[in-house]
Amino acid sequence: MHRLGSQSTVHRFRLAALLLCSRCILAPACVCLLIYSMYIGDPKLALIGVGLGVLTFLIVMLQWLISARARCPLCLTPVLANKYCSKHRNARKFLGSYRLRVAIGVLFKGSFLCPYCHEPTSVEARPKRPQHSRH
Ligand SMILES: [Zn+2]
Repeated sequence: MHRLGSQSTVHRFRLAALLLCSRCILAPACVCLLIYSMYIGDPKLALIGVGLGVLTFLIVMLQWLISARARCPLCLTPVLANKYCSKHRNARKFLGSYRLRVAIGVLFKGSFLCPYCHEPTSVEARPKRPQHSRH
């Protein structure tokens, strides 16, 4: 089991995973709301749908920025970003997405399996090397 380099990396991983999950919930909700508002002809509801769309877009941009720096400690590939590199042959998807599987692992299990090198990583900071004390 590998560990992440520092506490700030742990926070970055958690935030990127949270944004990815919220995006996966918000985007379909926004589309459903827009279709429904057009169906019942409610301009107020359509406006909320557009607002939700803008929010989703901002979350996508923020997630894109943060996940670019959330790298696997072993192969240094950003596991929460959209990469078209070939995946490990045993890597599995969740709802058709490798990233979502990593995000769910980060948020709920506290560890994830890198889809590129297939190595497990615990979402916690590596202990610092003991400092030499003078006597
Ligand atoms: Zn990796």
